[in-house]
Amino acid sequence: MTTTTKARKRAAAAQPEQIRVDNPATGEVLTHVPNLTAAEVAEVAARARAAQPGWEQLGFEGRAAVLRRMQRWVVDHADEVARTICSETGKAYEDALLAEINYGAAAFGFWAKQAPSYLAETRVRSAQPLVAGKKLVQRYRPMGLVGVIGPWNYPLTNSFGDCIPALAAGNAVLLKPSELTPLTSLLLAEGLAASGLPDGVFNVVTGTGATGSALVDEVDMVMFTGSTATGRKVAAQAAQRLVPVSLELGGKDPMIVLADADLERAATHAAYYSMFNCGQTCISIERCYVEAPVYDEFVDLVTKKVTALRQGVPGGPGSVDVGSLTSPAQVDIVERHVRDAVAAGARALTGGQRPHREGLWFPPTVLVDVDHDMTIMREETFGPTLPVMKVADAQEAVRLANDSEYGLCGSVFGRDLERAEAVARRLEVGAVTVNDALVNYTALELPMGGAKPASGIGRRHGKEGITKYCRQQSVLVSRWHLRRDLHTYPYRASRTRVLARLLAVLNRGAKD
Ligand code: NDP
Repeated sequence: MTTTTKARKRAAAAQPEQIRVDNPATGEVLTHVPNLTAAEVAEVAARARAAQPGWEQLGFEGRAAVLRRMQRWVVDHADEVARTICSETGKAYEDALLAEINYGAAAFGFWAKQAPSYLAETRVRSAQPLVAGKKLVQRYRPMGLVGVIGPWNYPLTNSFGDCIPALAAGNAVLLKPSELTPLTSLLLAEGLAASGLPDGVFNVVTGTGATGSALVDEVDMVMFTGSTATGRKVAAQAAQRLVPVSLELGGKDPMIVLADADLERAATHAAYYSMFNCGQTCISIERCYVEAPVYDEFVDLVTKKVTALRQGVPGGPGSVDVGSLTSPAQVDIVERHVRDAVAAGARALTGGQRPHREGLWFPPTVLVDVDHDMTIMREETFGPTLPVMKVADAQEAVRLANDSEYGLCGSVFGRDLERAEAVARRLEVGAVTVNDALVNYTALELPMGGAKPASGIGRRHGKEGITKYCRQQSVLVSRWHLRRDLHTYPYRASRTRVLARLLAVLNRGAKD
């Protein structure tokens, strides 16, 4: 037995059989779900592999029919899904409706419609004389078994959402949701079964990080969303089998407010997109740089808006603006970032103190007098915080915005659109917005991903959002030809001279 196998057996023996799922807003125990061992994950993977060829053979239309029925299922069950999401994440009802139900329903329709064109066979033309007259085709085949490992902040959008294009491409899928939020995935699996997805094609493997690690050992491709640290581990493990990975990791998204900005809009967006989902979004506004002439007015406006937010246990629609945090470890991180900033001279204009109450809470917090020596301006806080910093001009704002290991998204607010866009284009991030934030994520046609390694590699959405779940195959068919091509054996000096002259003519290129 190898050391790794022994270590796995020990880990499996130590692994509890069930994991508890809590409501983070109330502390109530919701239920328990199985904590699958590596052997159990391998069994599920074998069943999924057996089911995959039948799913692939259904073709785009056959698969799209199932995905479209699932789109209707999500709409018909929107309230049930939203309440399940709220119960295991603590987020506000509207956060679930807008960023999860809306995304999920749209994504089923989008991938059903786009998969055939994104994955269409394409005829290729070549200038190479050796292939003149031959048919050249580039085509896509599904990887086979795709593994998706998801985080707890968006159980539908970021976890389950990545399974949709993988299924549309004809793969079987194993989804390992976060141990904190497995219930949404289990409910959606019921929806897929009710929509006619063949048995074994989609599988939720619940469990802890060890279950995620076991999944990496079974699949043909890994789609991971979560922390940069775990992303590194997953990539290193996948590299042992040379299995491709796509990683959507952390962010520290900057917002820049130029002196000519519509301050009302800028402040509204700053408050909304830093506190939305209690700040637990990889593309949340995590830090804000404001040109000096409008700094005081902006800070005043944004502080009033954040102070007015109603935070509490989510009920139905309109019950609260901001819910609780989702992960116990996350509350500690947020508290540490705020405490360290205040100890180093920052001021909390609203919020700032962790309350003594049941559940995972931290209040919406605006911080000023911050600088880049503070953790809150450098590490992903992933909580309801908005640190605001005064800058002399756009030049300084861009320099500070780019002074980060992360590069996911960024936003610039200004009335002079040409100037604002020019500033936005200088940000070293995978996506930028002008006079807006985050909504770019809902445009599934627009690729989304990191510009720096700490924010991930690969793209979700757009063509690459589905081709990454496929193997490429290049096809050459020789339709008409000589019985023996000029360049093949036996080599003869006379033919070589002809070939050499031909190659010289073809490769001489255009004159300058
Ligand atoms: P992780 O990155 O640890 O978890 C993400 C997923 O990976 C979970 O399903 C987790 O399972 C699983 N996992 C953990 N360890 C392994 C492993 N060795 N192999 C395979 N899968 C594994 O996120 P955390 O929950 O620890 O959050 C930490 C930080 O990550 C946050 O503070 C935040 O900054 C960032 N984050 C970023 C997100 C994003 O959208 N980019 C989303 C969530 C967090 P399990 O949950 O069961 O441990």
